[in-house]
Amino acid sequence: MRNKILAANWKMNLTASEAHDWLVEFNEIDSDKSNIEFRLYAPNIFLSDLAKSQSMHIGAQNVHPSDSGAFTGEVSILQLVSVGTQSVLIGHSERRSYFHESDAFLKEKVDACVKHKLPFIFCCGESLEIREKDEHLSFISAQLSAAILHLNTSDLSLLTIAYEPIWAIGTGQTADTDQINEVHAFIRKVLRESFSEDGVNVSILYGGSVNASNAKSIFACPDVDGGLIGGASLNASNFLELASSF
Ligand code: PEP
Repeated sequence: MRNKILAANWKMNLTASEAHDWLVEFNEIDSDKSNIEFRLYAPNIFLSDLAKSQSMHIGAQNVHPSDSGAFTGEVSILQLVSVGTQSVLIGHSERRSYFHESDAFLKEKVDACVKHKLPFIFCCGESLEIREKDEHLSFISAQLSAAILHLNTSDLSLLTIAYEPIWAIGTGQTADTDQINEVHAFIRKVLRESFSEDGVNVSILYGGSVNASNAKSIFACPDVDGGLIGGASLNASNFLELASSF
């Protein structure tokens, strides 16, 4: 059974009081929140306060694979979990490109999550250049092979995948539903081939300029189990409004 997930990725946005107000507003909006798993991926400095409210799944946008050590500025899984963090993003394209995170490093993070049984969203997706060369499927296959496909089926309950074409992130240019259907069905096929029927139960989210006007057609795609939402998640009511598009 695949969970329907709406995940907010705030990136490096909002101040402490804005983060607090967002959660208050989200909780006060009177709508049925029971059928969808809402998640909030917030900057690390807000995780402790947000998690204390215990009103929503709170996740981190990044993690270091080591348990502790001389890694100035980094945060470990043990530290995240100690303040109530419930999951983490791994391999967001902004981490891959701006911070040069390699497939091998991302695999270390995946393995650390498995070791500590911390759920994670593994992000994958191609650049415009790769799509224009029609190499997007082999590129995504390589990203999955490098960091995910070695998992044991017993670890799959920790895994959610987000397909995020880089050219659609923060650009206002969404992938069309044919493009989304093609890639999500492809990822589902790869998961089935690697993990048999257990692989079919992994939720696959779409991310890339999802908003109130395109969410309905995206969430209607058969292999789309929800969204990873950047810009449209910075306002609590805009984010929650997307839930009515399922
Ligand atoms: C993201 O940050 O993962 C994302 C999809 O951003 P946006 O919705 O702004 O494109």
